[in-house]
Amino acid sequence: MNTITLPSQRSYRIVDHAYDVIVVGAGGSGLRATLGMGAAGLKTACITKVFPTRSHTTAAQGGIAASLGNMAEDKWQWHMYDTIKGSDWLGDQDAIEYLCREAVPAVYELEHMGVPFTRTEDGKIYQRPFGGHMSDFGKEPVQRACAAADRTGHAILHTLYQQSLKHDVEFFIEYFALDLIMDDKGACKGVMAWCLDDGTMHRFRANLVVLATGGYGRAFQSCTSAHTCTGDGNAMAMRAGIPTQDMEFVQFHPTGIFPAGCLLTEGCRGEGGYLTNSEGERFMERYAPHAKDLASRDVVSRAMIVEINEGRGCGPNKDHIMLHLEHLGADILHERLPSIVETSRVFAGVDVTKDPVPVLPTVHYNMGGIPTNIHAEVIRPTKENPDATVPGLMAVGEAACVSVHGANRLGTNSLLDLIVFGRAAALRAQEILKQHDAIAPLPAGAGEDAIARLDKLRYAKGNIRVAQMRDSLQRTMQRHAAVFRNNQNLKDGVTKIEKLWPELADISVADESLIWNTDLMEALEFENLLANATVSMVSAEARKESRGAHAHDDYPERDDKDWLKHTVSFLNDKGEVSLDYRPVHMNTLTDEIQTFPPKKRVY
Ligand code: FAD
Repeated sequence: MNTITLPSQRSYRIVDHAYDVIVVGAGGSGLRATLGMGAAGLKTACITKVFPTRSHTTAAQGGIAASLGNMAEDKWQWHMYDTIKGSDWLGDQDAIEYLCREAVPAVYELEHMGVPFTRTEDGKIYQRPFGGHMSDFGKEPVQRACAAADRTGHAILHTLYQQSLKHDVEFFIEYFALDLIMDDKGACKGVMAWCLDDGTMHRFRANLVVLATGGYGRAFQSCTSAHTCTGDGNAMAMRAGIPTQDMEFVQFHPTGIFPAGCLLTEGCRGEGGYLTNSEGERFMERYAPHAKDLASRDVVSRAMIVEINEGRGCGPNKDHIMLHLEHLGADILHERLPSIVETSRVFAGVDVTKDPVPVLPTVHYNMGGIPTNIHAEVIRPTKENPDATVPGLMAVGEAACVSVHGANRLGTNSLLDLIVFGRAAALRAQEILKQHDAIAPLPAGAGEDAIARLDKLRYAKGNIRVAQMRDSLQRTMQRHAAVFRNNQNLKDGVTKIEKLWPELADISVADESLIWNTDLMEALEFENLLANATVSMVSAEARKESRGAHAHDDYPERDDKDWLKHTVSFLNDKGEVSLDYRPVHMNTLTDEIQTFPPKKRVY
């Protein structure tokens, strides 16, 4: 066993491992990548801080998009148009083409793997309508969301885990990945991890590392994300000098239960549910005359906040909106939305078969992340090449920004993104890695920085508890990076976040143990949240337009002349951000379809 001795003379014994591929994360994206790598005969390990089937993907409710056409005519070209329009034209059109073309085989592949989709009378996969998914280039809502009742993520995740176990893949469960190992040429050579269970430190050497660590919803006070969603992979990338992209775009889901925040799927409105204000008015008819309650999420969330701000909110404090499902009838609700019935009862005390349930927009999804190409290879743009890749590193899922969601993701396109690009990562790995290639040696001092960072927090005896710092951060994000933003509010948000960085030196971690030390783990997660929140706020402050989820009161219009570009944000270890921009890909992959030039986005 090797040892790392720090300048403080404290020593850590290191357990060394070598693999062709290390996947960090066992949500839908990580498992799909792991499964593909294992099936290709690559020696693969998957590291995860929670048991695979407890990953956040298990919470996904409403469905996975694919133009199967089981309920009515549908085409991948229509899906592509809707996704570009949903992204407010910030999505890369070549990546979106790939996503929507691959959706149909990807869902059939899941079916064959054993995902228990809900069925139509004639045995086909059941599909429901979802916001922003339309037929014939935006004409009428179409039933495109393939659903396993309202537990689609749970069904997919369990199936993928079972399938992964068929292959010779090793899982390192309840291991917390600390940092990437990079060489002096900027290539990734592995990853360091801490085993939460017995406190041992592990150094994984690999020819390829795939970050599949999910989003950073927990940077906000009220969100639908699991407590594990702390943007660890994004922060690991940033510490390795790799940028994140489009971090200002944070999606608020219209129907978080008020005030608990947990999600009621858009599938509720897909099945015919609707929203009302205090006057009992179905107000979405005014904001989106065509799609109404099935307009895209940014549009519905903004409409709800306008209703509340103009005094038409419900309840004694006029601070929420009502979602109606009672007219659908108990039979349909119990068959198609059983978890919604249960969640509403437990978290709102409402029987949705009889009464409406109070809802409010809640943070739900991060469109931004680590930039990648359609093969999941991580991009670090240079002056000469905006699409230059980082050798040895991939990213998939919510941690990545391909970018197929642009400024606003359509519901059911995330599960699809996990499966399509998790698979793409495995296909690419087979091209660039040969089976039984020698695994490259580690650079000198590999892992020392990661251990030093952990050690510093482990013995931190300052005056501010981790939970206190996290609370300040979450309140700042909630208040200053909200559904509606403005110059002053964003500027104040940046100032507040800047003040948190020096406070890191005064943090206090309760316990020095390395075995199940949740305070130490939360301190590491807090550093990661702070990194994500910082680039998110600074990128938002810089973008002087309104696009998708970034609704700016001082610049209410989209500005394609100056802002049709991806934000690329670099963060240094003092918390300072430098911004750059790279072009949106307006080209398609094949000449089977033409590009969709920007136009006004109405629903
Ligand atoms: P996750 O599922 O979050 O997995 C991340 C993995 O990384 C976990 O295994 C975790 O253990 C691991 N990890 C993280 N950090 C570390 C670390 N430091 N060390 C080791 N391991 C680490 N999308 C849809 O398309 N359709 C839906 O119906 C839908 N419903 C949703 C409902 C809810 C309530 C929510 C919140 C989201 C929903 N979404 C839906 C969005 C979708 O569920 C997520 O975007 C998606 O599941 C993210 O998957 P992922 O693989 O990227 O990450």
